[in-house]
Amino acid sequence: MKILKLRKEKLDLFASVVQQFGEVHAPVEQDGKYVFKRLRRWSEARLEYDRTILPPKKYFLPPRETLFRYRPGEGFAPCSEGLDQRTILFGVHACDIYAINILDRVFAGKYNDPYYQARRRNIVIIGIDCSPDQHCFCRSMRADFVDHGFDLFFYDTGDYYQALVGTALGDDMVLASGSIFEAVDAADIDNYKRRSWNKRRAFQLEVEIRDLPEIFEMEYQSGIWEELGGRCLSCGSCSMVCPTCYCFDVADDVELGSLAGSRARTWDSCLFASHALVASGENFRGPRASRIKFRFYHKQRGFVAEYGRPSCVGCGRCISACPVNIDVVQVIERLRGVQDAGSR
Ligand code: SF4
Ligand code: SF4
Repeated sequence: MKILKLRKEKLDLFASVVQQFGEVHAPVEQDGKYVFKRLRRWSEARLEYDRTILPPKKYFLPPRETLFRYRPGEGFAPCSEGLDQRTILFGVHACDIYAINILDRVFAGKYNDPYYQARRRNIVIIGIDCSPDQHCFCRSMRADFVDHGFDLFFYDTGDYYQALVGTALGDDMVLASGSIFEAVDAADIDNYKRRSWNKRRAFQLEVEIRDLPEIFEMEYQSGIWEELGGRCLSCGSCSMVCPTCYCFDVADDVELGSLAGSRARTWDSCLFASHALVASGENFRGPRASRIKFRFYHKQRGFVAEYGRPSCVGCGRCISACPVNIDVVQVIERLRGVQDAGSR
C-alpha cells in the first residue's frame, strides 16, 4: 500500500481532479444533521461531520430498487438503472467502510447479488478519519481502523492529510493530480502514530465483546428482552440507520388489468411486526420482545458464528436514532452484569 501526504490547502485542488472520475457525493449539512448527497459544488462538503443520518449503504443497497420488469409474451427484463453510474463517495468514515466490507461478505460472498456487486464495482470510496463522540464505540468493535475496502483514505495529521492509496484507481487519481502529493518522511510517520494513539484515548464509550456470544447464549431467557419489548415502538429506525442491516422485502407491482409488472425490493426491519409473518398467517416472531431479541442475537451472536465477527461496527447511529433510548452498549453491559450500566 502506498502512503503519501497532501497539504490541507491542496484538498480543494484534489477534489477538482476527482470530479473528472465520476459524480462526487459527500456529507453535506441539512437541518443541523448530515447526509451523503451529490455535491453541486465542492464547498458544500462537510468533511468534519460526526455521522450521517443514513449510512453509505444506501448507495449499494438502495432503500427501494426495481429488480426486473415482466410482460406476457416478452418475458423478464432485468433493471440496470443506475448500476453503471460511477459515483465517488468522498469522506466515508472507517466504521462505515468496515460496514461495507461486511455487506460484501454477504452480497458478494455468501450470496451472489448482481445488483449489489455492480454498484460496488462502480462506487469509488475516499475515506477520511474522524474523532469519536459520545455515541461512538467503533474501537470496541475493532472498526475504528480499516485496512481495505477504500480507494484512498485520508488521515488528518495537522497541516497535512496522510493518504493511504488502497487501489489502482486511487493511484490513478493521485497521478492525475500532478505533483500535489508528497512522499512521507520519518517525522510524518511519528506524527501519524502520535495522533492515532491520541484518538484511541479519545473514546468515551467502550464495551467488551470478547466473550459476548457466550454471554448471549447464557442470557437467552433474561428478563431484559421482555423489558426492551415493552419499551420498543417497532419503528424500525435502528435498522434503517444501521450500516450493516441488510434485510429487504420483495414485492411485485402488477399493472391493473394486465399480467405485466415489476418486482422491487425495499428495506425491511426485523423489528417490524410483519417481518416474520408467512403466508399461512403464522408469525414466527409475533411478540415485540422476540423481535428486539432477534436483532441483538443476530448481530452479536449469529453473525459471529457465521462470519467470525459481530455485524455491528459501533457507529452509534441506532443509539442516537432510537426514540425510546434503547442503547446497544447499555444492553450489552446489563447482560454482562456491569453494575453502573444505564447510568450514562
Ligand atoms: S447496531 Fe447500531 S451501533 Fe452497531 S452498526 Fe448498527 S447502527 Fe451502528
Ligand atoms: S429504534 Fe428503538 S423503538 Fe424503534 S424499533 Fe429500534 S429499538 Fe425499537
